[in-house]
Amino acid sequence: ALVEITPYNYTLARNSPLHAQIQKAYRWYSPKFSPHDVPRFADVGSITENPLVMRSIRDFLVQRYKSFPQPPTHIMGFDARGFLFGPLIAVELGIPFVLMRKANKNAGVLIKSEPYEKEYKEVEPEVMTIRLGSIDKNSRVVLVDDVLATGGTALSGLQLAEASGATVLEVVSLLQLTFLKGVELSHSYRNGRYSKIPFFSFVDETALTDENCGDLLNYTGKRAISCSEALSKL
Ligand code: AMP
Ligand code: MG
Repeated sequence: ALVEITPYNYTLARNSPLHAQIQKAYRWYSPKFSPHDVPRFADVGSITENPLVMRSIRDFLVQRYKSFPQPPTHIMGFDARGFLFGPLIAVELGIPFVLMRKANKNAGVLIKSEPYEKEYKEVEPEVMTIRLGSIDKNSRVVLVDDVLATGGTALSGLQLAEASGATVLEVVSLLQLTFLKGVELSHSYRNGRYSKIPFFSFVDETALTDENCGDLLNYTGKRAISCSEALSKL
C-alpha cells in the first residue's frame, strides 16, 4: 500500500516488507567518507550489491507499471544512477530505456533542459539532454533516479518530456529527502504546469537511520589507497 506524503507524492507504507528490506540494505556516509559535501550521502552501491533487494525493486516496479491502465511506453533514466534501475524495468516491460545525460555526454541532435542545480552544487549548473525524437507526443514516460533531493534533476526531466509532447506517468526514486522539498519545486514550477505529475519514492530520509551509517569509525588513513598499498595488505 502507498502513502500520500503530499498531493501527488507517494511512498511505501513504513510497515511494508519492501520498505524494511530497502531500509536494512541502504547505507549512507558522512562528508568524510563521501564524494560530496552533503550530511548523508546515500550510497546506491549498497543497493546494487544486494541482488535480493534489486530483484524486489524490479518486481515491484514492473508489477506497478503493468497494472497502469495506460502503461508506460518508455522508461527514462537520469545520468548516471538512474541507469542502474531503469533498464531492469524497461527490459522486463519490453519498452525502450532512454538516457537523460549531461549535454557533453549524449550523441545525436539533442533537446536540452534549463540549467539545474542539485543538493551538491557543481561548478556550473548542469543541463540535461535527450536525443531529439527518442520520445514523442504518443509517449507515456516514467523518469527514474536513485535519489530525489532538491528536485532540480527531476525538474529537468519534466522539461524534456514536455518539450517532446510526452506524458509523464510518474517520477520514481528509491529515496526522497522530503525536507529538501524537491517535489514542491516541480509541482510549483511555472504556475503549476507540473502540479499533477505523480512522484513515487520507496523510502524517505527516515530510512537513513544512525544504524545505516557506513562510516568506518576511528579510521584515520587516506580515503583512497593505491593498488600497491592494497596489495601489501593482502
Ligand atoms: P537533486 O537534483 O538535488 O534532486 O539531486 C538528485 C541527484 O543528485 C540524484 O541524481 C542523486 O544521484 C544525487 N544526490 C543528491 N543528493 C544526494 C544524496 N544525499 N545522496 C546521494 N545522492 C544524492
Ligand atoms: Mg545522480
